[in-house]
Amino acid sequence: MTPDLKPLIVGNWKMNGDRDQLDQLAILAHRISHEFQQSVDVVVCPPATLLYVAKTISEGSPLMVGAQDCHNEATGAHTGDISAEMIADCLAEFCIVGHSERRNNHRETNSHVAGKVKACWRAGLASIVCIGETKAQYDACEVDMIITKQITDSIPEGATEKDTIIAYEPFWAIGSTKIPSLKSLKEIHALIRDILVRRFGDHGLRIRILYGGSVRPENATELLSIQNVNGALVGGASLQTADFLAICQSCQSLVRNHY
Ligand code: PEP
Repeated sequence: MTPDLKPLIVGNWKMNGDRDQLDQLAILAHRISHEFQQSVDVVVCPPATLLYVAKTISEGSPLMVGAQDCHNEATGAHTGDISAEMIADCLAEFCIVGHSERRNNHRETNSHVAGKVKACWRAGLASIVCIGETKAQYDACEVDMIITKQITDSIPEGATEKDTIIAYEPFWAIGSTKIPSLKSLKEIHALIRDILVRRFGDHGLRIRILYGGSVRPENATELLSIQNVNGALVGGASLQTADFLAICQSCQSLVRNHY
């Protein structure tokens, strides 16, 4: 964690969840309202079909809502796509961009991601920009180079802590049981912080850097204790309300004990 930066826990439901899941969202919103007293920011990113209703259910609670992707244009002939403006119209506040599943399955490049980040900013959404290396790149010790390029090319000039969050997610850790060593995570998050400060000055000190990839209740405390890990992007474990809450609670305990 980093003193003075409020941690952020984001749940990414991916292509999971239907209206039945909304009861769980209501429970989550209620528990966040009563147990978290603004010490941790919590966001859930359900599928686009549930965005507006998720926002309605969480109204009055500090639980925030985000989307999982957007198109870079505001309107147009892009069948099946959703613009950042449409997401803002659902009253969501965040949007994940550049997730490894988008980069892999939809061949999204850093420059596509940069266009989506600009779209988020245009629509008043905070972008959660995912970066991370493949296993082959990790084994070839190319992490620093890949991360540097992704941050340089995926994030446009002028990013601030209000409109940008970074999620470092090694591709090979997502949906697996593997996570990088704590030592290497500390080094990578320090590198990301350095790059952000070099590019964005004081804003770079305040942009939150999340870790994502197999975060579970059992490993949340050790991961969230690492310097410059300012929260987590949680996939699989966010589908179980009890697990997701346990991760948020670990984060809250760290805030209470250390700062
Ligand atoms: C993710 O998809 O962003 C993710 C981190 O997934 P998981 O937590 O399941 O590894």
